[in-house]
Amino acid sequence: MIVLLLGSGGREHALAASLKKSPKLTRLIAAPGNPGIAALAECFPVQVDDIDGIVTLAKHEGVDLVVVGPEAPLVAGVVDRLDEAGIPAFGPTAAAAQLEGSKAFTKELCARENIPTAGFRRCRTAEEGRAAVAAFGAPVVVKADGLAAGKGVVVAETIDEANAAVDAIFSDGAGGEAVVEEFMAGEEASLFALVDGTTAVVLGDAQDHKRAYDGDKGPNTGGMGAYSPAPVLSPALAEQAMAEIVRPTVAAMAKNGQPFVGFLYAGLMIGPDGPRLVEYNVRFGDPEAEVVLPRLEDDLLELLQKAVDGKLAGVAPRFRDETALTVVLAANGYPGAYEKGSEIRGLEAAEARDDVSVFHAGTRRDGDRLLANGGRVLAVTALGADAAEAQMNAYAAVDLIDWPDGFCRRDIGWRAAAQAEEG
Ligand code: AMP
Repeated sequence: MIVLLLGSGGREHALAASLKKSPKLTRLIAAPGNPGIAALAECFPVQVDDIDGIVTLAKHEGVDLVVVGPEAPLVAGVVDRLDEAGIPAFGPTAAAAQLEGSKAFTKELCARENIPTAGFRRCRTAEEGRAAVAAFGAPVVVKADGLAAGKGVVVAETIDEANAAVDAIFSDGAGGEAVVEEFMAGEEASLFALVDGTTAVVLGDAQDHKRAYDGDKGPNTGGMGAYSPAPVLSPALAEQAMAEIVRPTVAAMAKNGQPFVGFLYAGLMIGPDGPRLVEYNVRFGDPEAEVVLPRLEDDLLELLQKAVDGKLAGVAPRFRDETALTVVLAANGYPGAYEKGSEIRGLEAAEARDDVSVFHAGTRRDGDRLLANGGRVLAVTALGADAAEAQMNAYAAVDLIDWPDGFCRRDIGWRAAAQAEEG
């Protein structure tokens, strides 16, 4: 099979590494790819938002399957356009991608299907927002939806803080809505499902660290590290989340004529009453892909093909027993302003260690030199018998990388590692 992989981050490098292992693969191409992916695939300079360019490339290269990494082209309808052109693509249509693209869409689906999640109210004005805040009481969560979505999520400890977040959403008059949500207490974990339109099977689980600095302090980021499996998500809890959250969602999407095909990433809060949905993403996580995929024992390409063909019934992907842990190396200053172009050395030494993979997230080549080219630059993954060993192995590899202009957290997996050490 000729496979075209879309994207240029660490997630796509991890996907490329797994696809490359498949005996069914005859040729892997990527758009636009990155220097890590370029070692595994032929990269074409087509950007993921250039949907015409992607369709043209897929046709020209006789591609048998397109695998879409990031969410933006999914929400923009790249799978719909490839379908129209008769090119099989793994990923949801724009209609199905609303599960990530619109928080209100997902919350209303959950309400209709009795899927456990935080109580919520959609608010179209600041007055409605303040009324919802008063009704839920503190702590309370305020999220922007629609046009205002870039303003993100505020977990407010006080009513004043929540009202300020509501006002910020409506202050610029740009339109958009607020979603005010009940605060859910518990520990967060991510569950990944592979979905073929009607059947959903578990494709691993993970936990990540979103804050920039040690001790889970500092600003939110795209993710500074992750580990898999998630100790908090026992097999019984994962099955409960599939039965109460993921499968009813997939069934509802199919019933509504918007069948979901692709990776469905459920962000869960594990509280006293079991798992509740925080949010869906319609693609693999980044950096979660960098810890889940290295543990996958089965042929990823075969699994994706089965999803596209609607043949996942009875499939149960298998994973290595070990823990995988990844440490993200980011440019100094990230997630604020940072510089690009500093040189990174020592990757070969890190990669030479057993069971270590260095995934490129934001790099570029300049002749023989490897340069930083983004905020999150590398994800260094190691396997170990448990989280403590995986953590030790990952930092041993990180310490071989020579990049004075970058930083990483030194405590990725602290909770899981402490649990492993307690036995
Ligand atoms: P989201 O963009 O919806 O994933 O929200 C970002 C983060 O905010 C989540 O990963 C949670 O840590 C937190 N969060 C969102 N909604 C809630 C909620 N209802 N209760 C508690 N924490 C939440």
